[in-house]
Amino acid sequence: MLGEQIVKGMAVTARNFFGSYVSKERLTTVQYPEERLVPKENTRQFPFLVYDGDNWEKGLRCVACQICEKECPPKCIYIVKSKDKKPDYKGQPQLYPLTFDIDISVCMSCSICVEVCPFESIKMDTEFELSTDDRFEGLLLHKQELAKPNAHYHKVHAQDAKDSDAVLAAETAKAEAKAKAAAEAKAKAAATPAAPPPTPAG
Ligand code: SF4
Ligand code: SF4
Repeated sequence: MLGEQIVKGMAVTARNFFGSYVSKERLTTVQYPEERLVPKENTRQFPFLVYDGDNWEKGLRCVACQICEKECPPKCIYIVKSKDKKPDYKGQPQLYPLTFDIDISVCMSCSICVEVCPFESIKMDTEFELSTDDRFEGLLLHKQELAKPNAHYHKVHAQDAKDSDAVLAAETAKAEAKAKAAAEAKAKAAATPAAPPPTPAG
């Protein structure tokens, strides 16, 4: 019937409108900022940098590969690579970011930086109350403001954080197995006696 869907839609609207006077369940808005909705699992606002352990600087997973900087569509990530190296989560020496800035006044929350990062280092946060009256520096976040512990990632995106931990654990196990095999091969080569020199002919 012509207009049937419009009538159905109006009925839902009317049910919620009048129902909201008697049932809180029917309210689609809250009295912000006194009341706040719990963000949904897939909510994404701006990126943050994940670190492991207690020390944000030592525990940053980022190895300054700069892939996210290259792929960010509005070019709002700025990274300066270190000259020296420090051990990463697998114990391998890696470069690290001396500078890692994101201008969140430009960031469009596309999450491409998260998708391209091969090190599970950058993730999307749910924090949105970041307004400031400082129009120049206030929305330029430096690595110390961007760094958040893995526990924070678990808090805001529990399932993604679990999957991310599993990826890192699998990579660590693979690296350990490779190192063990290499050490065993080296030990075997050292234990094998050298072949005797060839006997001269005649
Ligand atoms: S979310 Fe998108 S725009 Fe924002 S820093 Fe990442 S890649 Fe750039
Ligand atoms: S956040 Fe990831 S992609 Fe970006 S520089 Fe660090 S390791 Fe590379």
